Amino acid sequence: MRTRRTGAGATRYEPGGLLGSAGPVGVMLTVESLVKHYRGRGGGVVRAVDGVSFSVRRGETLGVVGESGCGKSTTATMVVRLDDPTSGRILLDGEDITRARGARLRSVRRRIQLLFQDPYSALNPRLTVERTLAEVLQVHGLGRDDAARRARVDELLSLVGLSGSVARRYPHQLSGGQRQRVGIARALVVSPEVLVLDEPVSALDVSVRAEVMNLLARLQGELGLTYLFISHDLGMVRHISDRIAVMHLGRIVELGTWRQVSDSPLHPYTRALQDAVPVPDPEAEARRAAPVVVGDVPDAAHPPSGCRFHPRCAYAEDVCQRDDPLLREVGAGRFAACHFAERLES
Ligand code: SF4
Repeated sequence: MRTRRTGAGATRYEPGGLLGSAGPVGVMLTVESLVKHYRGRGGGVVRAVDGVSFSVRRGETLGVVGESGCGKSTTATMVVRLDDPTSGRILLDGEDITRARGARLRSVRRRIQLLFQDPYSALNPRLTVERTLAEVLQVHGLGRDDAARRARVDELLSLVGLSGSVARRYPHQLSGGQRQRVGIARALVVSPEVLVLDEPVSALDVSVRAEVMNLLARLQGELGLTYLFISHDLGMVRHISDRIAVMHLGRIVELGTWRQVSDSPLHPYTRALQDAVPVPDPEAEARRAAPVVVGDVPDAAHPPSGCRFHPRCAYAEDVCQRDDPLLREVGAGRFAACHFAERLES
């Protein structure tokens, strides 16, 4: 476990430290101390992302979960290089891509793709599915002629479980599930190694969510893809993730395997997210403990002192208003940013 002693004596989380004795071998994506600050409407500095670090192994899914405004989507747009960080580093397969520009950035974009939440607004309504996919092939210089590009479009549609007849249709002629499959096919045109999935099923009917999630799981197995899966829904994230990072107000507050984080959370905020996951059994629902979180997400331009979660936390003590808890190791491969994480374990 690669960790670093801080001056305060706590063991501080470092992204490569998730890999045990194997070191950085096998890491596909690393984010180091990523920060995104910008000037808000009132003139204050909005700390949208405020020192986020994680690694994702090749073929692994890291779920990133948190409420709206926690910084998870801003992290996603920086990872795919649609936005520049204020500071910090992004490494793709060991290569620093943080400031990649021009041809190098185009090459990065072939290796790491973003799947948008809303498949309808992400597709050009004036283009058929075939034109949508063929255009991406052309932009990237893939497919030597129209026939080769048509063959590749058919191959991509089949890969995402759509029939060839879909190629001639426009986005408004497709169901939500079909549109998101086209969105996935478009992301796969360039044969990426990493997919950043930003709420990929949130805009879909509940009835088709499972189908798209199963498709994503199958594609990951077949193509060896690495996923960064972003969602506000812990129940959704746990189904697809190997590990889960929980974000609150621009920071990771808990990180561990999906089972650790979703079944026995150590941070009160994670516990609140867990409480928000509906339980199908009404009796079990009635037996649930009182929620451990109150109020709305604080303003990222004026984060609370000490632990940023303290105004909403049922476990807060005086020290929480004063001292900002580090994300620290609280068990093998398990990290939490809470002064009393060990207490919650019992
Ligand atoms: Fe709650 Fe204190 Fe832990 Fe923050 S440090 S999550 S306020 S108990």
